Amino acid sequence: MFGRILIANRGEIALRIIRAARELGVETVCVYSKADAGAPWLSLADESVCIGNAPSSESYLRIDRIISAAEMTDSEAIHPGYGFLAENAHFAEVCRDCHIEFIGPTPEAMNLLGDKINCKRLARQAGTPVFPGTDGEIEELDEAIEIAAEIGYPVIVKASAGGGGKGMRVAHNVAALRTAVTAAQQEAIASFGNGAVYLEKFLEKARHVEVQVLGDKHGNAVHLYNRDCTSQRRHQKLIEEGPAPRVSPEIRDRVCESAAELIRKAKYSGAATVEFLMNKEQEFFMLEVNTRVQVEHPVSEMITGVDIVKESISVAAGEPLSWKQDEIKLNGHAIECRINAEDPSKNFMPQPGTIETWKTPGGPGVRVETHVVPGYSIPPNYDSMIGKLIVHGRDRDEAIARMRSALGEFSVSPIATTIPLHQRLLNHHAFVSADFDINWVERLLDE
Ligand code: ADP
Repeated sequence: MFGRILIANRGEIALRIIRAARELGVETVCVYSKADAGAPWLSLADESVCIGNAPSSESYLRIDRIISAAEMTDSEAIHPGYGFLAENAHFAEVCRDCHIEFIGPTPEAMNLLGDKINCKRLARQAGTPVFPGTDGEIEELDEAIEIAAEIGYPVIVKASAGGGGKGMRVAHNVAALRTAVTAAQQEAIASFGNGAVYLEKFLEKARHVEVQVLGDKHGNAVHLYNRDCTSQRRHQKLIEEGPAPRVSPEIRDRVCESAAELIRKAKYSGAATVEFLMNKEQEFFMLEVNTRVQVEHPVSEMITGVDIVKESISVAAGEPLSWKQDEIKLNGHAIECRINAEDPSKNFMPQPGTIETWKTPGGPGVRVETHVVPGYSIPPNYDSMIGKLIVHGRDRDEAIARMRSALGEFSVSPIATTIPLHQRLLNHHAFVSADFDINWVERLLDE
């Protein structure tokens, strides 16, 4: 095991990693920007190093400064958390060149799964269900038109190097497809320096269902069942729950096992998420693989008892996974609500400023992941998520009741948060009956 690791992140995930490391007897070093000087999580780290100004381009994204901080503090490994440099293969490579362990996959595995065309190819070999569409890159427009006619409209043109929703175009007919291909190629070159685009069926009224997986350096991989993240606004997840409702145990297990096989084939070590869209007939189609720990990982921890962050650290240190697949049992139901400092009544405007009242809920099955304490000032420079409220119940009904009660206990002022929106969603019949699709929250907000 490592003696000491550096955390290249901030906020709740930095705190989560500090706690996991402490349990493993590993010391922690936090890097921070000037905007985070004196932030509450830093006092729990064994050491902390200021690496620059508030903008993340001058601090949390500065590879040179993070590496220097790791060398200066004798850190053997770096945990990137999520966001910032977590899916940056160049960063993982620089770590390796500097003999610092990157807590996550190798740059090769990250590049393989991060390239959507290659990822889809590997998924087919692993038996992971993918969307019908072109086999690889669109080389000839005519070929794309032929395939679109075969699979039927609407179709979507996507960038192989895509991320953040860029380089994607939906087409409902041939004329639209012609422009979509050119537009997506141009956007992909501008955004990613790689113009490769591919075509697949566009699924309407879909649900977002994803599989949590973990791999080690010895060729082992396990899954921690699935999560439903259908409640989104502008592709940002608001509520996540697991196991995904309205998926039969047989289909769930088959898709989850295929996701574990995919990362086994990719020689992947660490935590990853295989994302799918699902239709009403419970057909699954892979979207992409996220090569990092995700915001919603606690949902899977609550229903399996596996500590994903601790596993990610120990597998990076070369240990085998401490769980075998048949030891991972599904227990009850968990729901997570992301608490963002945003005002839902003002088009989700971010709300930086000082939090005076911060009373978090408690009781059995209630978990709060947050870096916030009363008096904390939210800097305007970063993500607006200030906490995650996770509940666990024996079944979905109990989890919903527990979440409603916990949201009612949560008291924050004078900053506006997404809590009132969550209360509305948790009481809505569409959520209660799990009869929803990825546009349901936006439809509700439009009403
Ligand atoms: P990115 O990496 O840019 O986030 P994704 O492949 O994850 O791209 O897709 C982003 C979002 O676009 C998905 O969450 C989904 O809402 C929508 N989307 C992507 N592919 C499809 C598809 N084939 N059918 C329907 N919606 C899709």
